[in-house]
Amino acid sequence: MKKRLCTALLSVLLPLSACAAPAAEEHSQLLLAMDTVMTVTAYGPEGEEAVQAACGRIRELESLLSVTDPDSEVYAVNHSGGAPVEVSADTAALTARALELCADTAGALDVTVYPVVRAWGFTTGDYRVPGEEELTALLERVDYRQVKLEAERLSVPEGVELDLGAVAKGYTGDQVCALLEQAGVTSAKLELGGNVQLLGSKPDGSLWRVAVRDPEGEGYVGIVEAADRAVITSGGYERFFEEGGETYWHIIDPASGRPARSGLVSVTVMARSGVTADALSTALFVMGREKAEEYWHARRDFECILIGADGTVTITPGLRDSFTLAGEGRTLEIWDET
Ligand code: FAD
Ligand code: MG
Repeated sequence: MKKRLCTALLSVLLPLSACAAPAAEEHSQLLLAMDTVMTVTAYGPEGEEAVQAACGRIRELESLLSVTDPDSEVYAVNHSGGAPVEVSADTAALTARALELCADTAGALDVTVYPVVRAWGFTTGDYRVPGEEELTALLERVDYRQVKLEAERLSVPEGVELDLGAVAKGYTGDQVCALLEQAGVTSAKLELGGNVQLLGSKPDGSLWRVAVRDPEGEGYVGIVEAADRAVITSGGYERFFEEGGETYWHIIDPASGRPARSGLVSVTVMARSGVTADALSTALFVMGREKAEEYWHARRDFECILIGADGTVTITPGLRDSFTLAGEGRTLEIWDET
């Protein structure tokens, strides 16, 4: 009976520490960074100092990677008139991996889509619907293959702009997990906006339970259990505006310059690497269900949960035992193994 009550509570108050576990020392810090609310929580005696160091690392990465901060490295690259800029190992490593993922997703992820994102007002909040001619002109400046990285010298041609916003939080999560691990922490949970990154399992050894938000409401669509994973969601409900009865969101299809209308409203990707999960949550959102399925069949190194505009929830077979739908009324589809 007690156990049942415990389970019921868990499913409402997510994520929670285990009900009956011996109390592990919890150290948690909330911070506002990268224009979102972040929480770093680490367990055990090493946690206190490690959490402070983690917050410092987040600030450091924010100051390097922000596309809007005139003091950032990304800003310097975008405003050098095409000249190469010597950047940090972080900016170089993230850019290199991001470019691989742009190529691997055939440009569904494109780290140069920023001029288009800005035209829609997603960075400023001055939302507007750009005209066809304007978008056509802006799209000439969008092509990740124009980004040149040689060792730690980074450049884009004049007019092209690098924006790592679709992958930077995933990289940040990877870096913070590595830092916590080096400090001796074996159990930690990072919530970086819609990104969750888990180091180890819960302090009592059980799996973490991560809720996948309902794109249309306050609650959640389901729960996925995991350890040592990044669980990262891109949704059309995060940054959007409405005009003339239409909703326009911040995930842009680089082929059209318009908000991606692939039939999906939320994509959660679970992988060991935060950068990969972050990149793929954005890219699969652009691809839509069918292309995402083809992509998954070819790679198989990640799991995902797709929520369609029709309410259907689609998962990879690897999540069969770890994902549970919350409530009734939704159809669950599981991709074939083969
Ligand atoms: P994701 O799906 O991970 O990424 C979507 C974002 O990537 C979009 O907002 C757009 O910028 C870009 N994008 C859209 N489509 C594509 C595509 N097909 N391929 C590649 N990229 C795409 N926001 C502010 O308003 N003000 C700030 O000062 C600010 N500072 C930031 C500093 C840093 C270091 C970072 C990482 C983010 C910052 N942000 C800021 C938020 C940023 O503008 C994005 O909104 C945010 O990164 C989106 O993350 P997401 O997880 O919601 O979506
Ligand atoms: Mg992303």
